Amino acid sequence: MRIVSTIAEARGAVRALRTNGRSIGLVPTMGALHAGHVSLVRAAREQCDAVVVSIFVNPTQFGPNEDFAKYPRTWDADCALLESEGVDLILAPIATEMYPAGASTFVEVEGVSDRLDGASRPGHFRGVSTVVAKLFHIVSPDKAFFGQKDAAQVAVLRKMVRDLNFDLELVVCPTVREADGLALSSRNRYLSVEERRQALVLSRALQRVEERVAQGVLDAATLIDDALAVLASEPGIRLDYFKVVDPDTLEDVADVRNSALAAIAVFVGPTRLIDNAVIAPPR
Ligand code: AMP
Repeated sequence: MRIVSTIAEARGAVRALRTNGRSIGLVPTMGALHAGHVSLVRAAREQCDAVVVSIFVNPTQFGPNEDFAKYPRTWDADCALLESEGVDLILAPIATEMYPAGASTFVEVEGVSDRLDGASRPGHFRGVSTVVAKLFHIVSPDKAFFGQKDAAQVAVLRKMVRDLNFDLELVVCPTVREADGLALSSRNRYLSVEERRQALVLSRALQRVEERVAQGVLDAATLIDDALAVLASEPGIRLDYFKVVDPDTLEDVADVRNSALAAIAVFVGPTRLIDNAVIAPPR
């Protein structure tokens, strides 16, 4: 496994991996790796000849009062994990490589970037789409792997790939959860034992919605009321949003007759957690 920190080295290393028409899979991450990230790496291994993982805590996707400085950085453990997973190349650029002094070009996917997390975190998706577009240009992957856990990010990046004609396939992998339902997240490391318990209310609320849909409840307002009732059972948390939306546009839907996304964000103590469920109505 090779580790590179400059874009020039990355381009050279990718060229070497691509010989004899070998396909390249890219897994963009911010490090602090867990089993969710590993699931993307394994999917990339299965579907591509060579796997590139980027580790970059991207400053432009954090708001001024967010956790950029304290975001968990577990470099040695990340490298050991990726080595054991058979990754070919880690691209771990320093910030000035990705954003050279004076850089003033950004990618903005209008509309969809202002919904769900984009509404709560202004500028977040501009940072995400800019850094992912840069990684796509540097690595030119055949496939890029993202988690369903970040459903709004998937909607933004799908649209970016289409609108800007990126010649790659975006592969979305299912959310990996702990046995008790909590979606894995690098930010789960912030949680105290009590907050970890409170955080289970996210998956409980989504489960309730799935049960209600299975019973034939298709009206979005009713499903939201049901989810809010579950969330109210955990007064220690603060709701950011619970929405039922179209998975591509992230706009509110009135009912879930077509496939829809139930998406939630809450603050557990100071930690903001997200989760979602793809709603497929019973036939
Ligand atoms: P991050 O390091 O948080 O930027 O995440 C890197 C990639 O891993 C993103 O595509 C995430 O959606 C994905 N990811 C994060 N958590 C999970 C999870 N629990 N299950 C599946 N994918 C995940």
